[in-house]
Amino acid sequence: MDISVVVPLYNEEESLPELHAWIKRVMEANKFSYEIIFVNDGSTDRSWQVIEELGSKNPEVKGIKFRRNYGKSPALFCGFEKAQGDVVITMDADLQDSPDEIPELRRMIVEDGYDLVSGYKKKRYDPLSKTIPTKLFNATARKVSGIKNLHDFNCGLKAYKKDVVKHIEVYGEMHRYIPYLAKNAGFDKIGEKVVHHQARKYGKTKFGLNRFVNGYLDLLSLWFLSSYGVKPMHVFGFLGTLMFIIGFIAAFCVGLFKLIAMWTGDSYTLVTNSPYFYISLTMMILGTQLFVAGFLGELISRNSPERNKYEIEKIID
Ligand code: UDP
Ligand code: MG
Repeated sequence: MDISVVVPLYNEEESLPELHAWIKRVMEANKFSYEIIFVNDGSTDRSWQVIEELGSKNPEVKGIKFRRNYGKSPALFCGFEKAQGDVVITMDADLQDSPDEIPELRRMIVEDGYDLVSGYKKKRYDPLSKTIPTKLFNATARKVSGIKNLHDFNCGLKAYKKDVVKHIEVYGEMHRYIPYLAKNAGFDKIGEKVVHHQARKYGKTKFGLNRFVNGYLDLLSLWFLSSYGVKPMHVFGFLGTLMFIIGFIAAFCVGLFKLIAMWTGDSYTLVTNSPYFYISLTMMILGTQLFVAGFLGELISRNSPERNKYEIEKIID
């Protein structure tokens, strides 16, 4: 099979028939063999009935129905598990992404050899309250992930080599960082294609402003996990030791000043008068705590069932 199209959706009943007809038109014009996997993320409207109707008339339509709303990432994860096509395309259900982009996206994967091609909504039809923070968000994501050529991490329209989607785990709200997940799994040929974007035709957006706060926290944990997830001692142990050394130097100063004071006969100087006393106290306590945190983290990661999970690309035996 040439292409699997994975469509996560939450309350998008009006858009589905139109989206399906459009994808079908593009696929037939290009003579691709394909499937469309609609993942119904606990919609409370008629979305699932619509998918069932489409499925009864069209063999290429497949569906997964969640019992409740889990989020876009779990929906993508389950769609990816089911996908059989050599190239996997994801797109939003709200008709903001155009199926006309599919042939070129596929060509970039198959002929140019990209592992992942992300859409780039250069001209967006979204409110300003969304486009400005998005610029900031993408700049940070570029810095942290080291994927310098992407302008639009969170674009719903993306194409993947089949291998990629079978080796990444999109959980929580990590759909915003799929290129980073792919890179961490060793797929680093990541490209970008400028795509058309349209204003939402039906319904309204499913993500509020908290997307930006959550987005930054997710980026932070992803960065931390990928750099120190299996070696927490390297960061906590280092910081702890550093603090302890500063505290020790401060304590040394306290003792020294006291000795000097006694030497000069000013024996009424109390150690608690010196700022170094407080520095040494806090630093040594914080340092020990950080060190212990690192040690505990290390013990936990040693017992984690994933400690020896590596992405192995090929085996000869
Ligand atoms: N979506 C989903 N589960 C959710 C929220 C959204 O499957 O909990 C789907 C939604 O139906 C749409 C896609 O994810 O197909 C993108 O959502 P939306 O268009 O609301 O996001 P925006 O374009 O505003 O970033
Ligand atoms: Mg949308």
